[in-house]
Amino acid sequence: MKKITDLRKEDIEHIEIVCFDVDGVTIKKGTEIKEVRTLDDTTLTVKTSNLSPRLLKKMIELKKYYVIAISSGRSSLYLTKIFYELLWKNAALISEIGIFTLFEGELIQNEKFDDETLGIMRNIVVDLKKLEGKNKSFGSFEAKQFLITLHAYDEMQEVYDIVKKHDKNNQFYTIWNGEAFDIAPKRLNKGTALENLAKYLNIDIKNTMAIGNGPNDQDMIDAAGIGVTTEPKNVKGDYYTESLGHLGGEQLVDILLDINKK
Ligand SMILES: [Mg+2]
Repeated sequence: MKKITDLRKEDIEHIEIVCFDVDGVTIKKGTEIKEVRTLDDTTLTVKTSNLSPRLLKKMIELKKYYVIAISSGRSSLYLTKIFYELLWKNAALISEIGIFTLFEGELIQNEKFDDETLGIMRNIVVDLKKLEGKNKSFGSFEAKQFLITLHAYDEMQEVYDIVKKHDKNNQFYTIWNGEAFDIAPKRLNKGTALENLAKYLNIDIKNTMAIGNGPNDQDMIDAAGIGVTTEPKNVKGDYYTESLGHLGGEQLVDILLDINKK
């Protein structure tokens, strides 16, 4: 792995799409989800960090040179809220770990789920719900269309057992990212979503760059022509940023702007 400061103009001359992970790469990591249910009503609270206005401004400037893609496990609605000012021309929002892509006014579902897959997902959710009140680590489900995201205070073995019980053909992944479990079919991931976006735009996958920090980013970093990691200890890429966490994304933006202005 090379340092991101070693990146030269000739290394990125062919790049047409730059794809950013969100949590821990463009915004500070850490989400609190709280669901309070009474007999009459339910209150769902989501608390996350903001995208800094400084980084937003730089990312808007970066659109002069590249198509900017944002790829996250978050819902499309949430990403639209955070990155609204970056839309719509030359910007794509890939949500729910590659299930949806919002691009130039169209929300594309990258695969239609069949009855069998939907049934497995429903059975998993029904069984996970039974853990509430029984396991102290159980948090709340984050509102998503298809991706199952269960926030938890600690990794829970029962989650893996429940997925295994319903997923007879081992088609699903269960990723624990330190604050939540993500469960979805393995064939849909940030790597395939980046490939789909490139295909849609008629761009060779080699002409893409992607930056991430977590286990769900590895497919995207591997698929991209140039892969960048902000956490080289856990995620491997061609380059690593020296600024850690959410400042890593900003370091890449700064370097790309700098090289393009030269
Ligand atoms: Mg992340």
